[in-house]
Amino acid sequence: MIPPIANRFVAGESPAEALDHARQLNQQNVKAIINLLGEHYDERPPARSDAAEYRSLANDIASSDLDACLSVKPSQLGLDLGDDVFREEVTEIVNAAAEHDVFVWIDMEDHTTTDVTLDTFEELAREHDGGVGVCVQANLKRTREDVERLADVPGKVRFVKGAYDEPSEVAYKKGERVDEAYRSLLEYAFEHFDGGIAVGSHDPEMIEYATSLHEEHGTDFEIQMLMGVRKDAQYDLADEYEVWQYVPYGGRWKSYFFRRVMERKENLRFALRAVLGR
Ligand code: FAD
Repeated sequence: MIPPIANRFVAGESPAEALDHARQLNQQNVKAIINLLGEHYDERPPARSDAAEYRSLANDIASSDLDACLSVKPSQLGLDLGDDVFREEVTEIVNAAAEHDVFVWIDMEDHTTTDVTLDTFEELAREHDGGVGVCVQANLKRTREDVERLADVPGKVRFVKGAYDEPSEVAYKKGERVDEAYRSLLEYAFEHFDGGIAVGSHDPEMIEYATSLHEEHGTDFEIQMLMGVRKDAQYDLADEYEVWQYVPYGGRWKSYFFRRVMERKENLRFALRAVLGR
């Protein structure tokens, strides 16, 4: 069992706990993006086992009539073992999810994985005429071109600032430059995409900018935030917009939890208060 201190950011260790969290979110009009924690497997069995769990989750989501979808990581599905391993595993998940009408997101990892991730997304999205989404990172200099390429691909695109510490040859390093790139990508998307835009950010300025672009162009969009981050804002925004919460769960919760705690002083204070009981 995960300690109470971690369950602000992680739904639990089992699929049942993740589904239960999704059910509670749905009652607040927020939809759930369920992610089984795991990455950078260097052997096939854990990749196969996680892929099987995603397929079973798709079945559970459909049979429990939840407003929920899945989000998978390429290196969780064996990318470090070879592009083909990842393609094979993610294809099986998307095929199984499509049978239940369950949407599958593909998270984006560091810049060395961008090509294979986008190519695989595009193949699957065209084959299924949507039903799958991919994440793009505003900090990467290449992303504008990638987004232009994705404009007429069916499916959805999640816009994030980028979580990986990338070299300056390929990425903007300053926060303001990344914000500028993020705004410019949103402008392009709201102007050229036929819906399917996901604003994956907790930043009130970016969300406000997206809502103003939505008013200007009428293009559909959704807002996505992480479990445990700006929860009240998620519920408030859900009164007016489509809001999805990224819900991680699973036995490998420790490194994810510590990443969340360390990324902001407020989170660290919250963790310390929980440990000290005040
Ligand atoms: P930041 O630039 O970190 O912060 C801007 C402002 O947002 C802050 O000043 C504050 O006002 C507000 N804010 C931010 N965090 C908090 C907080 N914890 N509490 C209160 N206010 C806060 N990255 C990837 O590289 N690949 C992925 O596949 C990926 N998927 C993601 C999926 C989702 C649903 C989300 C939300 C993020 C994902 N990310 C992913 C992470 C993303 O790249 C950023 O690292 C992360 O979201 C931080 O950037 P930000 O836009 O939220 O705001």
